[in-house]
Amino acid sequence: MGERQVTRVERDGDTAVISIDNPPVNTITAAMRAGLRAALDEVAAMSRIRAVLLRCDGGTFCSGADIGEFAGPPREAEYRALFARFEGLAVPVVAAMHGTVLGGGLELALACHYRVASPGTRLGLPEVTLGIIPGAGGTQRLPRLIGAEKALELIINAKPVDAAEALRQGFVDEVIDGDLRAGALAYIRRLQDSGRGPRPTAARKVDPATATDAIVQRLSALARKLYPNREAALTAIKAVRASVDLPLDQGLLFEEELANQAKATVESRGSVHVFFAERATRKVLGLPPGDAAPVASAGIVGAGTMGGGIAMTFANAGIPVTVIDATREALDRGLAVIEANYGSMVKRGRLTPEELSRRMGLIRTSLDYADLAGADVIIEAVYENMELKKTIFGTLDRVAKPGAVLASNTSTLDVAEIAAATKRPVDVLGLHFFSPANVMPLLEVVRTPQTGAAAIRTVMELSKRLRKTPVLARVCYGFVGNRMMEGYAREAERMVLEGATPKRIDDVLERWGMAMGILAVFDMAGVDVGVNVHKANAAQYPPDPTYYQADFALVEAGRYGQKNGKGYYRYEKGDRARHEDPEALAILRARAAALGVPPRAHDDAEILNRCLYPLMNEGFRILAEGIVQRASDIDVVWTSGYGFPRYRGGPMFHAEVIGLDTLLAGMRGFGAEFGPMHWEPAPLLVELVDKGISIADWEARRGTP
Ligand code: NAD
Repeated sequence: MGERQVTRVERDGDTAVISIDNPPVNTITAAMRAGLRAALDEVAAMSRIRAVLLRCDGGTFCSGADIGEFAGPPREAEYRALFARFEGLAVPVVAAMHGTVLGGGLELALACHYRVASPGTRLGLPEVTLGIIPGAGGTQRLPRLIGAEKALELIINAKPVDAAEALRQGFVDEVIDGDLRAGALAYIRRLQDSGRGPRPTAARKVDPATATDAIVQRLSALARKLYPNREAALTAIKAVRASVDLPLDQGLLFEEELANQAKATVESRGSVHVFFAERATRKVLGLPPGDAAPVASAGIVGAGTMGGGIAMTFANAGIPVTVIDATREALDRGLAVIEANYGSMVKRGRLTPEELSRRMGLIRTSLDYADLAGADVIIEAVYENMELKKTIFGTLDRVAKPGAVLASNTSTLDVAEIAAATKRPVDVLGLHFFSPANVMPLLEVVRTPQTGAAAIRTVMELSKRLRKTPVLARVCYGFVGNRMMEGYAREAERMVLEGATPKRIDDVLERWGMAMGILAVFDMAGVDVGVNVHKANAAQYPPDPTYYQADFALVEAGRYGQKNGKGYYRYEKGDRARHEDPEALAILRARAAALGVPPRAHDDAEILNRCLYPLMNEGFRILAEGIVQRASDIDVVWTSGYGFPRYRGGPMFHAEVIGLDTLLAGMRGFGAEFGPMHWEPAPLLVELVDKGISIADWEARRGTP
């Protein structure tokens, strides 16, 4: 009662037209499935119907199944029954597709007898990237249409193809220019004129020549290469293989069995967890109601690495931005870098020349702070120096319009102290972008005790337009990501001093799933950058004479990383490939000897655990201190900003996968061996293990931080 209708049926001559209208992207929800059943009932009751057209209102055909249902009971049987009704219709049923047709959306179309699409429609089965397999017939029907090999390529590559390619492959029958509905109705008339009737996919057989051992071997190798540590793509191969021998109804049952197995894996639960975690970060708990202020223009102070990347981020979102620096030369240099970055996007075909000039046109430069007077948001990205930042915030306080958000991109400084340089700390917060700022999705939003709700709301809303994933944090040294990285990197460096090669450490981390080993990361970011941070913040670090000494030794020997071709590794000009370098190893050995670090043989498990345990342990401190709103925010920081594998769900999720008791015992074990300085278990971790409760239990009891 009173619920919006998500489907409707109309008659067009002797064709029943079923239209779906479930904004924004026609996701297949429970309500839509009920609507489709009702629509089929309605069609059955209509007289003299000779064809059915299935189409969608809005910007796209069904974009996919409702991922929100993943947590609930299995729906395969319901999908199977619904799609069988379409397939079993006694008159031809045609799906007319436009937009982005993924997963369950495409599987619905595969259950129809014919498929037509607008040019540019994108069709795909991306399930394996979420650790699952197509579970609504995709693994059984698609091979019947295009053969097992092509079907598996689509499933394993998990990338949509366009309508023209789908036509070539045979799972789209016609590409329709112009009005899709009219074109599809014309297509139906041609079907009728040529006497073609229903064409159930179920009745077809899969060509066994498309699933030979050689093909299966090749695709299994591809699956292992694209998805190391993961099973879903291999499970999909099993399912598709079965389509060769099994009739459709049995094949669908086998598919369901495999789909449910896949859903129970850590890779699937972890990927789905991150998917929802990313959607949760924008929800700010305990804010008084109010609206976000619109952001019509922005200002940036500092045209360096970060300022330039942030300026691009705004221009990419279509928001005009004014960039200030201390000198004309700095502005020119900054602008030239931005233009070169856009230029390389044009070269790679990612941007049109017109778009380049449009975006450059949105970026103005100035030496005069008065030009920031109209900006709704101003982001400071000058050198990491408290006095300088305070001076700049004092100036911003004088020129910015009332209510403008004043943000600092600082990585290590106390945002509350910066805010105190203004008379409006309520409008001040940290916006910690990651390098390269125009590429990296993560944005740590740092609130001080004074930051007001309006400023928080404005930037949370703005982040959507900037296509960033915001994670709200409170002030602490290193915020979330860098704070957790300290122990992780500390152990990696310490193990290098103990005799493990940088390559060995990075290989273990990368094989486990980190996008890049931490030592290679340091080479990329600049080993000297980390050293300077440690020198400037010595008081923040524990009194360990070996602490970060690998970094210090390399920098003292003039090895800054990729920027000068040598750091933990050696690099050749114009090439980012890392090569092991005996010279670096000698420097590290000498430093270890000077510090008296005892050599040690590490197995893979030790390397991994010494890196990951401190990382996760620090997460429990951050959670207990209320630095983040929820544990899953920490998972988002690491999966979207630090290359932690999404299929492992992030560090907090992973801690529960290995078991909190295992983590605690591991911390204590290393503490017994290496001393307590770095291995103190987080009190919250101890508490959870003692009480035998999960992170979610604890969060539910605690309420809003
Ligand atoms: P950078 O050295 O590349 O750029 C700093 C810019 O500030 C330069 O263009 C400089 O001319 C300008 N500047 C200096 N004094 C100024 C003044 N008085 N008025 C106006 N402009 C002035 O530095 P960066 O790497 O872009 O870092 C900027 C900030 O971002 C720092 O706070 C840093 O901690 C933070 N940050 C850096 C990274 C990173 O990876 N580089 C990541 C996150 C945050």
